[in-house]
Amino acid sequence: MVSNTEPAKGLPLRARVAASVSRTAAALSRAAGRGDGSVIGGWIGLKIDPDLLAHLAAGRQVALISGTNGKTTTTRFTAAALGVLGKVATNSLGANMPTGHTSALARAGHTPYAVLEVDEHYLSRVIDATEPHVVALLNLSRDQLDRAKEVAMMAALWRDALAGHDETHVVANADDPMVVWAARAASKITWVASGQRWHDDSWVCPECGAHIERSGDDWFCTGCELRRPRPQWYVEGDAVRTETGERFTLTLQLPGRVNIANAATALAVAAHFGVRPADAVPRLAQVTSIAGRYATVVRDGRTIRLLLAKNPAGWLEAFDMAEPVPTLLSINARDPDGLDTSWLYDVDFSPLRGRRVLITGDRAMDLAVRLEVNGIPFEHVKSFAEAVAAVPPGRLEVIANYTAFQDIRAELDRVN
Ligand SMILES: [Zn+2]
Repeated sequence: MVSNTEPAKGLPLRARVAASVSRTAAALSRAAGRGDGSVIGGWIGLKIDPDLLAHLAAGRQVALISGTNGKTTTTRFTAAALGVLGKVATNSLGANMPTGHTSALARAGHTPYAVLEVDEHYLSRVIDATEPHVVALLNLSRDQLDRAKEVAMMAALWRDALAGHDETHVVANADDPMVVWAARAASKITWVASGQRWHDDSWVCPECGAHIERSGDDWFCTGCELRRPRPQWYVEGDAVRTETGERFTLTLQLPGRVNIANAATALAVAAHFGVRPADAVPRLAQVTSIAGRYATVVRDGRTIRLLLAKNPAGWLEAFDMAEPVPTLLSINARDPDGLDTSWLYDVDFSPLRGRRVLITGDRAMDLAVRLEVNGIPFEHVKSFAEAVAAVPPGRLEVIANYTAFQDIRAELDRVN
């Protein structure tokens, strides 16, 4: 990354100084080996100019991507699609709070477009600061029980965040009742049938408290008029059907139906900037692993694939992506993971039945108890290296939560 890019022309003096200091601090932090520096750089910049994010966003057409799962991948797909039009600033390293956004925009210099991944809790603040052209809302489900807001509260925050931003176009998942309820606060909405494998956070209507019924792809509240809107974009197998009825088969390097859905959302967002899907589809096929997610590495004759799963909905998606081959599960409960592992009981591990399952991580014993309850045989290994040695040459799938995933990446010498 370049750290000496010219600041965007026309910034107020205070913002120019703040942006410059922000980039310098980020560069120093990188030079000191303290990560990519985007958080510290953004933090210092915002201390000097609290409106720095708004100043840096001014003059750019912005897309924001938020949701519990899939936002890093969807951000990368959307940035790739908007690349058809010109240069795009993006927080591709996943620093998804205002400090990270500030740093990403300062570092990028002047670009006509920006695509930002936004932590769900900060969506309101970032909408106010960046006045986005499009906001994509992917899904809402339970995450980090000890500190995240409840799903219904988060949906209410999103709803409030969208109210009063009549110029912002919302692209939202028609299959998630919580997202639909929140998105209806917007005046311009495009619905994408992105799917929802995880239903356990949306049985109760956020509008009236009645039960939500499901029938095939359809869903509706039994107590009020909240129901699945008719989607303009939807996924058909490995293809995306657009709002004009065109059909594009996607050849992605990332696995699973969920990534086809993420790509569909990215195409729908890009379409609102004037990108034709036919021009964007080949760019989506170029997107490979993101910060090690879905990376495949070969080690001692084993082909190892890394799947990150941070919460119950993410684990269900990972089971769907994982091939029926030996599978290593690794769980930690350090600060970035959330300290409470009781979510393990929200996940049905039975899709792993019939595979050879190995477990490791700080909280392997919690996982062991959970697998016992599910009747899944497993072997405990002390380390990732021991797991690799324990399986025969061939495929090994690894599913890990956040810090467990980072530990394994470190062991694999920062694969990318
Ligand atoms: Zn209702």
